[in-house]
Amino acid sequence: MAHMTPKLSYTQLPSILYQHCHPESVSHPEWLLWNDELAAHLDWAGLGLSQDEWLAAISGQAVPEILTPIAMAYAGHQFGHFVPQLGDGRAVLMTEVDDAAGIRWDVHLKGSGRTMFSRQGDGRCPLGPAIREYIVSEAMHGLGIPSTRSLAVIGTGDSVYRESALPGAILVRVARGHIRVGTFEFLAARDRREELCQLLDYSLKRLYPHIEVPDETGSKTRNRGARQFLEAVCQGQAELVAQWMGVGFIHGVMNTDNMVVSCETIDFGPCAFMDTYHPNTVFSSIDRYGRYAYSEQSKIAQWNISCLANCLAMIVDESEYEPLWEVVQSFSNRFQAAWDRLRCQKIGLGVSTESLEVSDTLHNIMKDQLLDFTLTYRSLAGLLESTDIDGSAVWVDWVKRWQSLVQASDRSIKDVTETMNSVNPGVIARNHRVQHAIDAAETGDWGPCQRLLAVLQTPYSESPGWEIFQTPPTPAEVIRDTFCGT
Ligand code: AMP
Ligand code: MG
Repeated sequence: MAHMTPKLSYTQLPSILYQHCHPESVSHPEWLLWNDELAAHLDWAGLGLSQDEWLAAISGQAVPEILTPIAMAYAGHQFGHFVPQLGDGRAVLMTEVDDAAGIRWDVHLKGSGRTMFSRQGDGRCPLGPAIREYIVSEAMHGLGIPSTRSLAVIGTGDSVYRESALPGAILVRVARGHIRVGTFEFLAARDRREELCQLLDYSLKRLYPHIEVPDETGSKTRNRGARQFLEAVCQGQAELVAQWMGVGFIHGVMNTDNMVVSCETIDFGPCAFMDTYHPNTVFSSIDRYGRYAYSEQSKIAQWNISCLANCLAMIVDESEYEPLWEVVQSFSNRFQAAWDRLRCQKIGLGVSTESLEVSDTLHNIMKDQLLDFTLTYRSLAGLLESTDIDGSAVWVDWVKRWQSLVQASDRSIKDVTETMNSVNPGVIARNHRVQHAIDAAETGDWGPCQRLLAVLQTPYSESPGWEIFQTPPTPAEVIRDTFCGT
């Protein structure tokens, strides 16, 4: 049976890391989206509050005593520039819930009003971005990629003012944790070494309980803990970015405050899945120089890891600097190994120099011929035995070479097809479909959103009606820019 931690475990940490803070009250709260499957996983109904009580709590109208929400403090490098204080400016950590497997989840609200970290912001979130995050995070989960998840979207009945007045919403999201690289940076920037040790101990215990670290609690340094933690985060992020690339996902704002040490995809702002393949694809309207472009994501993840290493360097002996730095450097190999494995799997092959070459050529063809990333990969399994191949001469040559490699691998066609279809999704949350779902929902029609969400639950296998979600956008439907909408 699931239960809430009566007092948030995060509040065991030094109080500089959070502020107690209730959601601000809204006019007319109503449930707009609800994730039954996630609720069942968390045994939500068994937590002891009715849905009406939850609605009152989340909308700030009546917060029961069992809930002790906090806004978390963090810093971050935004587009390479350090900002010493960011923090939950429009979010609160509502509660922590242990699922049946004993895994602890944060239940977090976005758009819940102002906090001490709000700066000039209004603490609110428009409905559109809340729906976008709900859809894309559930799409990631369906694809088997670690991600924060979405439990609900609540309409507030209030307007949020951006370029125009927009309907307001609160997103209820669930994550293994909200400890960001920026949370470590927050303490490091203030030279709070003792608190850094505590944050590290907490992160290890909560997120990496399988890592056996000698007890260093009495000591001022964390030589073993820091290195092993950094290794775990490095590996987790390397695999995460490889998985993003495997489905054509572009996060959009990989600032250090948007990277969590639990290695889940988090903070879906101007993120998107690409349609036509191009390595330099950028969607975010604020990413003018392509810092966070599709093919830059591994380099940026490593850069972020180096920021984390700098913080950890404050709580190790000098003799540990070099080993920590080696871990940062190991990121490239870890990422390359994960990405090579995945891209070879996507063409039904094991890793070898030849398979990698064939994979590179495929990407070049996709780029030159403006092919759709998802459909191209998904169609390959159907071409495994085809002798009648349509397309340009380069394409036909490529298919023949690829077929001969698969045949040489001695695996049955059935087996290869299964592997490929398990990593080449038939549907992704295409930007024009997400936008269409948002536009319809804003007029009160939740049908397109519900249908899209249903198909995205099982993106690797055919489901009723999935064809319309497979189709790439027509030229008129292509969306080049996405906005944070904050
Ligand atoms: P994000 O771009 O959502 O990752 O947010 C970056 C920082 O800006 C975080 O500290 C947010 O809490 C803060 N922020 C974003 N939108 C708002 C808002 N509407 N009101 C207050 N703070 C905000
Ligand atoms: Mg953020």
